[in-house]
Amino acid sequence: MSGSVRVAVIGSGPSGLYAADELSKHDAVSVDVLDRLPCPYGLLRYGVAPDHLKMKSLEITLRKILERPGVRFLGGVELGSGVTGITVDELRECYDAVVYATGSSVDRRLSIPGEDLPGSFSATEFVSWYCGHPDARVDAFTLDARSAVVVGVGNVAVDVARILAKTAQDLHVTDMPDHVLNVLEASAISDIYIVGRRGPAQAKFTSKELRELGELASADVVVDPAELVLDEASKEVVETNKTVRRNLETLQEWSSRPLFGRDRRIHLRFLLAPVAVLGTDRVEAVQCERNVLDGSGGVTGTGEKVTLAAQLLLRSVGYRGVPLPGVPFDERSGVIPHVSGRVQREGRTATGEYVVGWIKRGPTGVIGTNKGDAKETVEQLLADLETLPRAPRREPDAIIDKLAQRGVGVVTWAGWEAIDAAERALGAAVGRTRIKIADRAALLIAAAKTLAG
Ligand code: NAP
Repeated sequence: MSGSVRVAVIGSGPSGLYAADELSKHDAVSVDVLDRLPCPYGLLRYGVAPDHLKMKSLEITLRKILERPGVRFLGGVELGSGVTGITVDELRECYDAVVYATGSSVDRRLSIPGEDLPGSFSATEFVSWYCGHPDARVDAFTLDARSAVVVGVGNVAVDVARILAKTAQDLHVTDMPDHVLNVLEASAISDIYIVGRRGPAQAKFTSKELRELGELASADVVVDPAELVLDEASKEVVETNKTVRRNLETLQEWSSRPLFGRDRRIHLRFLLAPVAVLGTDRVEAVQCERNVLDGSGGVTGTGEKVTLAAQLLLRSVGYRGVPLPGVPFDERSGVIPHVSGRVQREGRTATGEYVVGWIKRGPTGVIGTNKGDAKETVEQLLADLETLPRAPRREPDAIIDKLAQRGVGVVTWAGWEAIDAAERALGAAVGRTRIKIADRAALLIAAAKTLAG
């Protein structure tokens, strides 16, 4: 490690790695990227849909950042979790500056009766499961439901609906673990309802992602033209916003095209607000109230109830950040309070603490949004470089030694490379590029030969 200023980036997802990218352009800085998981890439590995292969190939770019001299990956290190983790104070002993890049990892809730019935899950749980996240239970999903309701009309809703609609054969090209493919292969699902509480002009999905639903060989898309009628406010959005205009054109085309008689159907529904999840022992239906557009981008309830029969509910209504132990947190907005990326403690700029990504600005934007976001934060950090007090324990392995004393082995870059090779070998054996290892213990065994400490 050549640099004279030592920075820890907490989180190895795109936002953390874009920060490491910016930092490592400066010879004076050395960067350790810490992650609580043994594997890098955060939401790129555990959030981006496995069938979005082009997006997944961003890993090649991010990998180059972690391979740079002056940058290290330290996996399996959790911020502030008792004996196995590391506290903010301990970090500050070893690093001159810390950049928090932990994202928004939990789902927002609907807060309606029946939300916790068996069969009701957050989209986050489903995504984690099909992406082989070590925290997801292998048997979390069975997919014996015939009908599924996905609440929310953002890109995550589109992702989960598309994965439900595809066949296991379609998904063979992905890195999904075998237990996931087996469940998808046996899936009984025939109808998937994507439900928005406002109108089509207020939907959050982007055009490319929406159009993909209409290109599936395994599913018809069903749209009711009556739910595409616009009020004045919506017409104005359609005129001024290219994405919304394209989305509406796509939806209108689908609403008038004949069905092809495919095995599954994706129903895009608008102006329906879920008010209760019905069922005794498990989800049996989702009750919604029909809304009408209020002329200013919002909606008002009509009192009319619409019941969608479903045995699976996926709530896809956005993510939320979680507080990190010892780090300030704004409960209302679910982010770390900051000014242009400089963390604020009790209304004042904290020395040597910075924030990037979703935990800085909330869960919005695409992966590329994190580039400019990281640049802004790193500019502040670099402007502070001269005045940052130097940490007392500056030897590069101080953090590794500290954890080793507690019996915690850090997964180094070599450890990740061993996991990577093991996953590729699993895939190669059956003609796939990679099969993800989902089990944490198995990941650690794969990395074991190279565990530091
Ligand atoms: P999102 O884009 O914020 O969409 C959330 C959806 O949930 C909205 O339709 C919202 O409707 C709805 N919602 C919120 N509260 C609700 C409630 N109580 N009842 C009913 N509906 C409710 O969130 P996301 O889909 O989780 O995506 C997060 C970010 O990741 C976005 O920036 C997204 O673009 C990005 N992403 C991108 C990709 C990609 O590029 N392929 C893939 C996945 C995710 P209202 O508008 O009415 O609040």
